[in-house]
Amino acid sequence: MSEVREFQIFVDGLWITPNKNQAIDCVNPSNGEVFAKIAKADSDDTQKAIDAARKSFESGAWANLSIKERGKCLVAIAKLIRGNAKELSELESKACGKTIKHTTFIDVPTAADTFEYFGRIEKELQDRKLNINAPVDSKICYEPVGVVGAISAWNYPLIFFGWKVAPALIAGNSIVYKPSSVASVAVMRLIEIIQDVLPKGVLNVVTGSSEAGSAIAESKDIDMLTFTGGTETGRKVMQAASLNTKRLCLELGGKSPNIVFADCDIDAALGGAMSAIFMNQGQMCTAGSRLLLEDKIYDEFVEKLKGKASSLKIGDALDYAIEFGPLASKAHRDSVIKFIEQGKKEGAKLVCGGNVPIEKGAFLEPTIFTDVDNQMTIAQEEIFGPVLSVIKFSGEDQAIEIANDSKYGLVAMIWTKDIEKIDRVSKRLRCGTVWINTYGGFYNEAPFGGYKQSGFGRELGVEGLLEYVQVKHICLDKTPGGKSLAASWF
Ligand code: NDP
Repeated sequence: MSEVREFQIFVDGLWITPNKNQAIDCVNPSNGEVFAKIAKADSDDTQKAIDAARKSFESGAWANLSIKERGKCLVAIAKLIRGNAKELSELESKACGKTIKHTTFIDVPTAADTFEYFGRIEKELQDRKLNINAPVDSKICYEPVGVVGAISAWNYPLIFFGWKVAPALIAGNSIVYKPSSVASVAVMRLIEIIQDVLPKGVLNVVTGSSEAGSAIAESKDIDMLTFTGGTETGRKVMQAASLNTKRLCLELGGKSPNIVFADCDIDAALGGAMSAIFMNQGQMCTAGSRLLLEDKIYDEFVEKLKGKASSLKIGDALDYAIEFGPLASKAHRDSVIKFIEQGKKEGAKLVCGGNVPIEKGAFLEPTIFTDVDNQMTIAQEEIFGPVLSVIKFSGEDQAIEIANDSKYGLVAMIWTKDIEKIDRVSKRLRCGTVWINTYGGFYNEAPFGGYKQSGFGRELGVEGLLEYVQVKHICLDKTPGGKSLAASWF
């Protein structure tokens, strides 16, 4: 049996044992074995982290550095991530069951690239002179918000760390970060690796309990909260954040439509449909979990998709030959199975999957339901697993109507060769991202976020950066003789 690593919480530049000296087990969902332990922080521990962040922010040790200096630290973090890529990929795969191919080629490089991108974004934070038709010199300055609380989910732990921490840091904020208790290990190892890059107290990390998350959301010493997680938790966080009217950015759930028109490249659409629901075992907020198929190609497409899904190689996430790993935990797998039972009960047709293929760990077969009505539970609720609901449509208007008939609005996919249809349909879809003839195109330059109950605010891009700044208008009146309207009013 390999060594069980232990991680404490990281506060004011030090690794400290939490108040009650408790820890939680980190279980590898590929084999059910405990491979690490992380500290269980309570609200007092979290308050210490908040105090450290506040002290560091007020000291100006980070906020008063030039953007260039801060950028150099972010680029150094990117280099450290790349230099430790193999270890971080393996830990991420062990923690959340994502295949090693996925963590090696997507998660770790993406986290590094995000730090590099924000590390070099200096010009977007520079003062901006305004052209106003009045005798004034006016400019816009960008300042840090203050102390940022960041709470995230377990499906992309290293990527979310980059998406939240990199823009918050370049803007000059101090941070209290809370990764998900399900999968914190790669993030904690990364903190060990980068701990000397930043002044102490700028980045603090608490782990192991939702109590720590609530303490961050409720705290009056936190100026802004960025949250990625379920819509239900998002609502609680929003309520708590209202206690001191924190600035808020919420990235929540999704039930995204993947619309395949008959005039598409069928092979490309098949590949896209597979990735959209079976990558990371469907545990993606952006999963294309509702496959909308045009009637003319419905039977042919379903048959081919079923063949592909049933032949995916399932097994230990650390095996390079594997295409489909376990779900993140047994408890989560059980919640997905409940949705499969509900789908059967409501009359959808199970055409493949639905079984537990390997006893140990948290495995579940790739699952496809056809004959799904958009009002069924499996078409309306986020399952967050490898369960696809296939819905038939006829024509563009019906596709759009079904696609938008959801409380969520995160992403949508369209597959067609018709350029004019692309333009018409993408404009009418109520969601934050539309991918055309592709799936999962995330770029650091492109803002990502939701409409409706998928949340609000944006991550990545200049729009994502601006979530983390205060905008100050500085206005100098240049009316001759100091006799501006305001100065001479009374
Ligand atoms: P949860 O909402 O259960 O948890 C998210 C985070 O919130 C965790 O760190 C959790 O801590 C913490 N938390 C739990 N309760 C509270 C509370 N009352 N106050 C403050 N923090 C709290 O989500 P999951 O981790 O299960 O992630 C899956 C969800 O995330 C899905 O709904 C998915 O769609 C969404 N998601 C959204 C994305 C987006 O960008 N839109 C991207 C990826 C996922 P702990 O783990 O300790 O309980």
